[in-house]
Amino acid sequence: MTRWPLPQPMALALEQARKAVRAGEVPIGAVIMKDGEIVAAAHNETRALPDPTAHAELLAIRRAAQTLGQERLDGCELWVTLEPCAMCAGAIAHARIPRLYYAAPDPKGGAVEHGARVFEHAQSLHVPEVYAGLGAEEAGELLREFFRARR
Ligand SMILES: [Zn+2]
Repeated sequence: MTRWPLPQPMALALEQARKAVRAGEVPIGAVIMKDGEIVAAAHNETRALPDPTAHAELLAIRRAAQTLGQERLDGCELWVTLEPCAMCAGAIAHARIPRLYYAAPDPKGGAVEHGARVFEHAQSLHVPEVYAGLGAEEAGELLREFFRARR
């Protein structure tokens, strides 16, 4: 099977996930783009901070809001290597991020196409366009390797 080169933002999110592995964190990376520029990049840092809410998406959203000096991330894209959890999906709605790209599905902890399906509720403040699957193989392999090595 031919592997097409990934879009640059997803390649960067995967690079963040690899940085997380080196730091002993769960390999999940996120990048926020606006007008083709990187506004923020982050990986999970729940152990280093220590902060149970320090998921890659949340850290990237906080950094992007600080960099742009605004609480709503209009015109931004969030690229993340794993399907966001309910907390992060909630943050994506609060931030009004118009487009979400995620790589691997997460049947256990995901809340976009699994579990809580946050954006499918009428109460969701905002519903982003969602594009899933780009880089899923690479992202899934990083996670499998990480958890295999820990057993
Ligand atoms: Zn999360």
